[in-house]
Amino acid sequence: MKIIPISLPTPFYIGPVNVYLIKEDPVTLIDTGPKTPAALAALRAGLRSAGLSVNNIRRIVLTHAHEDHCGLARSLRDEAKDADVYVHSWETGHRASRLEHEESLHLLQRAGVPAEEIQAMRRLYDDVRQYADSLEDGHCRELVDGDELEFAAGALRVIHTPGHTPGSCSFLREADRTIIAGDCVLKRITPNPVVSPDPIDPSRRFRSLAEYLVSLARVRSFAPTLVFGGHGEPIHDFEELFNRYLKLIRERQTSALGVIPKTGATAWEVSRSLFPGVDDVHSFLAVSEAVAHLDYAESEGKIAVEMSDGREVYRRLSDD
Ligand SMILES: [Zn+2]
Ligand SMILES: [Zn+2]
Repeated sequence: MKIIPISLPTPFYIGPVNVYLIKEDPVTLIDTGPKTPAALAALRAGLRSAGLSVNNIRRIVLTHAHEDHCGLARSLRDEAKDADVYVHSWETGHRASRLEHEESLHLLQRAGVPAEEIQAMRRLYDDVRQYADSLEDGHCRELVDGDELEFAAGALRVIHTPGHTPGSCSFLREADRTIIAGDCVLKRITPNPVVSPDPIDPSRRFRSLAEYLVSLARVRSFAPTLVFGGHGEPIHDFEELFNRYLKLIRERQTSALGVIPKTGATAWEVSRSLFPGVDDVHSFLAVSEAVAHLDYAESEGKIAVEMSDGREVYRRLSDD
């Protein structure tokens, strides 16, 4: 079973995205790239060098439903005459215009994001949305943890690796312990958790960092020899990356707690102190990062949270 990485341009700050072509019966594409003419042209060229075309694709598998990964899914499915699209059911919140959801707005309000900033985030998001066609439930088959995507020769095992998003999935080829990990594992940057409603109870927030740490440990438990990420080069030394991530996460925890004043602070205020001068594009990611760390610290009993005027205010429990 041949895994062929294809790099596609994106209009996003993160740069090119990697999609993976499995040239094996049934021909399978893992992630699709954003819905832009440039990404589609690069994908067609990648397929052509593998001796294939969009028509040959029978299965489109999504690591998660961010625009840079899923944008072309619907048009490719249509062009490939109803190829099957697979995505984890916990990606629902992400599949269709996620900032439109009332739940997401409530989460941002509770995190202390001022109304005008929420409006700015929505405007920016309206722009991002053009890079993906939304996928309705009826269009998708479900990825289930532990299931196998079978091929004429070999299989890929679905590993649910929530954290970056609730429904993020990775794919393991057991024979040589190769993992395709989407944005769960990236060589140069730690993946950003995105503030999301809990997929089971949307009135709550998804505990992204706690889930992410479990997912990282799970990937590690397979002792991968090679990990293909959603962006950047493949990772040969997962152990080094794992330890580096844990160190960065610990340092970020310490700084997040360090900027909480005695009077307490909202996640928004913490994000402003952690990332001063962050531009509009990144303020949503910055507050997501702050929320993830504060939630985690609270679940570890390091800080307390209470509601005040509809906003969550975090307080340190001691001065150490
Ligand atoms: Zn992503
Ligand atoms: Zn990505």
